[in-house]
Amino acid sequence: MGDINGRGAFTHTSYNDFEIVADNVIDGGTRSIANRIPVYGLFIDPPLGRIGITEAEARKLGRKVLMGTMPMSRVSRAKERGETRGLMKVLVDAESEQVLGASIPGIGGDEIVHSLLQLMAGASAIRR
Ligand SMILES: Cc1cc2nc3c(=O)[nH]c(=O)nc-3n(C[C@H](O)[C@H](O)[C@H](O)COP(=O)(O)OP(=O)(O)OC[C@H]3O[C@@H](n4cnc5c(N)ncnc54)[C@H](O)[C@@H]3O)c2cc1C
Repeated sequence: MGDINGRGAFTHTSYNDFEIVADNVIDGGTRSIANRIPVYGLFIDPPLGRIGITEAEARKLGRKVLMGTMPMSRVSRAKERGETRGLMKVLVDAESEQVLGASIPGIGGDEIVHSLLQLMAGASAIRR
């Protein structure tokens, strides 16, 4: 698990590998990575939060998408912190209205993706 398995080198992925293994080995769970929503925070300045699929990937899959963007220059906290570089971009499936992914290069982007992760994981659990 983690970096050593060669499936990406991110803290979130490594930690989720651990959660799955611990649950299965210690608590007799049956979890797997099959339904894992790809997510990461890149700890650069400003940080980059990414989750789900990108616009290019959605189009490649032939999905009709709606896209919402908001520049950080319009986000109050970014303005208060004097760090208005970047934006928030969210992709939604035009038919199902499910969130497909987001890219948030900007202050707090590495934290904000967690809210979207809860949303996408909840929606995914309901669909299953
Ligand atoms: C410069 C840098 C920048 C990064 N930036 C980001 C980022 O912005 N965002 C992000 O998500 N991830 C980032 N990462 C990656 C992130 O740090 C890793 O994905 C994560 O730490 C992997 O966790 P892990 O438990 O798999 O491995 P590690 O955290 O590497 O843990 C492995 C542990 O095993 C120990 N170990 C090794 N061999 C043995 C042995 N034989 N016996 C006992 N112990 C051993 C090591 O000492 C280490 O403590 C970055 C990594 C680097 C190096």
